[in-house]
Amino acid sequence: MNHIKHPDLILQRCCHCNQKILTPRFSLRQVIVCPRCSSQLNDGRSWSLNRLSILSITLLMLSPIAFFQPLISIYLLGSQINANVIEGIRLINQQGDPFTASIVAFCAIAAPLLLPILILMLLIGRRINLNLRPILLVLAHMKEWVMLDVYLIALGIAAIKMQDYASVFVGHGLIAFITMSVLSLLILIHMNLDELWRKFYPIEDKEGQEKTLICTACHYTGSANQQGKCQRCHRPLQERSPHSLQKTWAALIAAMVLLLPANLMPISIFYLNGQRLEDTIYSGVVSLIDSGNWPIAIIVFIASILVPFVKIIIMILLLFSIHLNSNTNPVLRMKLLKFVSWIGRWSMLDLFVIALMMTLVNRDQLMSFTMGPAALYFGTAVILTILAVEWLDSRLIWDSYGKSKPAK
Ligand SMILES: [Zn+2]
Ligand SMILES: [Zn+2]
Repeated sequence: MNHIKHPDLILQRCCHCNQKILTPRFSLRQVIVCPRCSSQLNDGRSWSLNRLSILSITLLMLSPIAFFQPLISIYLLGSQINANVIEGIRLINQQGDPFTASIVAFCAIAAPLLLPILILMLLIGRRINLNLRPILLVLAHMKEWVMLDVYLIALGIAAIKMQDYASVFVGHGLIAFITMSVLSLLILIHMNLDELWRKFYPIEDKEGQEKTLICTACHYTGSANQQGKCQRCHRPLQERSPHSLQKTWAALIAAMVLLLPANLMPISIFYLNGQRLEDTIYSGVVSLIDSGNWPIAIIVFIASILVPFVKIIIMILLLFSIHLNSNTNPVLRMKLLKFVSWIGRWSMLDLFVIALMMTLVNRDQLMSFTMGPAALYFGTAVILTILAVEWLDSRLIWDSYGKSKPAK
């Protein structure tokens, strides 16, 4: 469909650094990199909506098996216990923490199901002329929240942890679950939202548009309409995201406050023969080291302790660099911002491990495993840090860099 007609140039702005770029009409296979901030404006990956829909249908068909069938089973004290996604969430909810249960349910069930449903809505909505804008806008935010891969690693950790107490077996649902996580990753990697926007809502470039702004929601470069909104997605079009710094600070400070109880209070409570053993995040790592599970101790340490703190420190440094108009290499700062947005979701790992352990170790009097109060604080802190990264308008980094340079 994108035949090269004229070798004319398209004016667009980079949504990461606001640089004006004149690109020749490019094919979808080409990688377009911003010369200023080296972000990819087109990553050369684009699967057709039909192909994405086929993957989505497969994903949806697998979901009942993946969510309801046992992922792993153990033989403990003579009986078989199965762990599945739904059961883990039901148990967290039952033990009096519906909010933590909804965090796990959202990341492990709701978001992974929403992704294929939205893609199928695009396919059907196009035929019956629905307004596809809200669907495309939500799809842009799915990447952070579909956490099937994180859950899969958590499953491996729970299985290895359980090997100390019982023999662990692969359940029927596991193959379906692994396939689902691979499919959701493929969809997220190969879905080219910019191209879908161009295809469903093409806007012809008018010559001589004075004030060109880039829309952060749909990446359209142009001027605002009379209501000050983006011509394509109808979201407010502003120079910079309003209150970006204030919102990022608020989320970060709240996350820092929550990380205190999250690290000081017990995150898991284990009853063994009437004895109550409490573990904080840190003591959990230490006991993993004591039992010789080095690799898992390292993974849990990185995901639950290192990542949240490193993320907060990097975000604070970035915020200060913007406030102080720092002239530190902005490309490096952009890389740091992308790094924190990439690592953020892995912090959910420990919460998923606990949810799985709760289903597996549940023998009332003899042995049981429940979630401690820290889990709620930890889950909320992780979500707040993900939001903080999302709320920071990266163009501010370039503005502050511009200000720090001597006036010409
Ligand atoms: Zn750029
Ligand atoms: Zn827009």
